[in-house]
Amino acid sequence: MSVTTDKAARLAELIRAADSVVALTGAGISVPSGIPDFRSPGTGLWENVNPMEVAHIDAFHRDPERFWRFYGKRFQTLEEKRPNRAHLALAALEREALLDAVITQNIDRLHRNAGTVNLVEVHGSIDSSSCLSCGESFPLADVRARQAADTRGVPRCACGSPLKPDVVLFGEYLPLAALARAERLAAGADLLLCIGSSLEVHPVAGLPELTLGAGGKIAILTQGPTPFDRVAAVRMGGDVVDELEAVLSAL
Ligand code: ZN
Repeated sequence: MSVTTDKAARLAELIRAADSVVALTGAGISVPSGIPDFRSPGTGLWENVNPMEVAHIDAFHRDPERFWRFYGKRFQTLEEKRPNRAHLALAALEREALLDAVITQNIDRLHRNAGTVNLVEVHGSIDSSSCLSCGESFPLADVRARQAADTRGVPRCACGSPLKPDVVLFGEYLPLAALARAERLAAGADLLLCIGSSLEVHPVAGLPELTLGAGGKIAILTQGPTPFDRVAAVRMGGDVVDELEAVLSAL
């Protein structure tokens, strides 16, 4: 048996034995869909801009036109992407009642598009944008149409205010309700599957602690080191698609 098959069999065993399994995913699960992790230098869209500057809530307020010039491109890139077989594997696990929920740091909608139902998007999603003045919410297609129709390329509410994507920008707090839900799920999980996340960005980095603190186990399927490698019941560091499919076939 190869190392992957061996570990996949062990992880499949843990999944079967657990009453509650929750997945926590980061940028690594969307890389096979062609979405580079913006924290890796020299990759695509973020190459010539400083995301801390342009995707910051202050930049949105100060210069919505510049903000949307950048964010419009980002939307366009993400709109075309399709879920990969790792997203589909998690959706399949949920359908088979082997996975309770997916908590994700990703804003790309790919878990949703793959069919995951119980989904917590702790950094929000590009699925909608909102008016900060009157609270009105607009679906992505409508936002794109409004952006195309505006001479300055800024999608606007009927009240005239620029719309803000429902994603957590730099300088913004995470949505409290989503975070509370994520913490409840992590604390109640017998097994937390950490996939494609370096587990370094807070507050998501605190979720494995909650699982471990309540007596649960964690498994890590991520390329590159994480602070939890030594306490993981299973540690896989190869291709995320191959590994999840190996786990599925071992179930
Ligand atoms: Zn409005």
